[in-house]
Amino acid sequence: QDFSGLGLAAPLLLALSKLGYTKPTPIQAQAIPHVLTGRDLVGIAQTGTGKTAAFALPILHQLAANPQQPPRGGARVLVLSPTRELASQIAESFRSLGSEMQLSVAVVFGGVPHGAQIRALQRGLDVLVATPGRLVDHLDSGVAHLGKTEFFVLDEVDQMLDLGFVKAIHRIVKTLPQRRQNLFFSATMPTEIAKLAADLLKNPAQVSV
Ligand code: AMP
Repeated sequence: QDFSGLGLAAPLLLALSKLGYTKPTPIQAQAIPHVLTGRDLVGIAQTGTGKTAAFALPILHQLAANPQQPPRGGARVLVLSPTRELASQIAESFRSLGSEMQLSVAVVFGGVPHGAQIRALQRGLDVLVATPGRLVDHLDSGVAHLGKTEFFVLDEVDQMLDLGFVKAIHRIVKTLPQRRQNLFFSATMPTEIAKLAADLLKNPAQVSV
């Protein structure tokens, strides 16, 4: 099977061929059809399996199929990631996979000044990739408004819990709209993480590699 067999939009197929990705990885082949139907998803997968594109591609497909003005103060797609390095890599993946679409992407993490992040949020974004702590700062200061989020991705959930981000995640989730698509990825699924998934997701499809 190749990417065109998954029904992805033409600008994505063009970006994939420019990147030299010819075949979906196993997590991509499993996850993409579920996500394209709008279903919530739990994925058990490690970094290096191609899981970023497994969520980015079907989300970008849905953005392209339903163009909307990005919401001021927030984004159509919110991705939470545990570290600035991972967040930056995810943002880079959205930029390269979305290179043939009109797409605004920004990354928000701690340890750097707030100003540029505030300006990016105020303009409104298609895709916001954030670490939880700094995003909570932007909520508390009244800059971030996440009520128009359509897609919510939690990546590396086990690492986020290890880093103590549970409270921040709940604080962020409280500000999201009820109606949204949730994608949840973790390398491991101990009880605590399965419980969080059960709390946040509605009737999720499960995939694992
Ligand atoms: P990830 O697990 O998302 O960190 O991806 C691991 C690496 O695999 C990244 O460098 C991607 O650019 C690359 N990659 C993802 N999907 C594919 C694919 N279908 N074909 C070739 N490389 C890929």
